[in-house]
Amino acid sequence: MRVAQQMMCLAFGRGLVAPFSIILISLGAIGATAQTTLMPPSGSSTATGRCSFKGMVSLNFDDGNVDVLQYAVPIMRSSALVGTFYVVTDRIGTRGYLSASDLNELQRAGNEIGAHTRKHRDLTLLSEDDVRNEVAGSKAALGAMGLDVSTFAYPFGSFNGRVEQAVKDAGFVGARSTNSGTNTPSTDRFALLRLDMNDATTLEGVEAAIQGAITKNEWLILAFHHVNGAYAGRPKVVDLVFFRGLAEYLAERQVPVVTNTQAISSMLNCIPD
Ligand SMILES: [Zn+2]
Repeated sequence: MRVAQQMMCLAFGRGLVAPFSIILISLGAIGATAQTTLMPPSGSSTATGRCSFKGMVSLNFDDGNVDVLQYAVPIMRSSALVGTFYVVTDRIGTRGYLSASDLNELQRAGNEIGAHTRKHRDLTLLSEDDVRNEVAGSKAALGAMGLDVSTFAYPFGSFNGRVEQAVKDAGFVGARSTNSGTNTPSTDRFALLRLDMNDATTLEGVEAAIQGAITKNEWLILAFHHVNGAYAGRPKVVDLVFFRGLAEYLAERQVPVVTNTQAISSMLNCIPD
């Protein structure tokens, strides 16, 4: 029953459901023990409404850095994990960044591609026209590449009411900030919170955050920039040992790992009291 509810809650079409369905089905696998599997409290609902919003995790990768495809994606694929990739459209296909065919391949494999503007400028400093060009323009550019884009991430996490309105007007269903925290059905879906993954992040710390989110039926977004030991020492990098450990933890504990659009779909399915 719980699996069926989650399936309904997370169904959002466009081919994003199939890989997650497999993960959800595995939630009911016989033999998973309480010690090794992170499960939300049985039959619980959130404090904010009657719904089947369950604890879950999303893996976000900002800026479209090519090392993520080289190093993180193979690990994710072998653990049946999906991610959400926020790309800067004017950089697509340039040196060090993912190409349009990379992005299409990621989408076909069940990942989500999201918009992160055209030029990665601070949107709060731009004119109205420039904001719309960066926001709606990046969505249009990705659409022209055959990508189905429904969520957005603010460059530098910088936004205000005017920027948020431009994101809504462009037809996005949600947007991620760089503010720290976990999300619930009552979180502003145009100011989603995340946990930054960087060179100071420890596996123990992230595991505790994941366990907390699952226990409290919250949505935890883990936000990455680079996943590559070759960049070690720079602040926005996690190394491969860390990333492998995280992927193993998520897979072994059968943590629901979803795209941002899937999680937003769950938020929208919640009925406020
Ligand atoms: Zn960025």
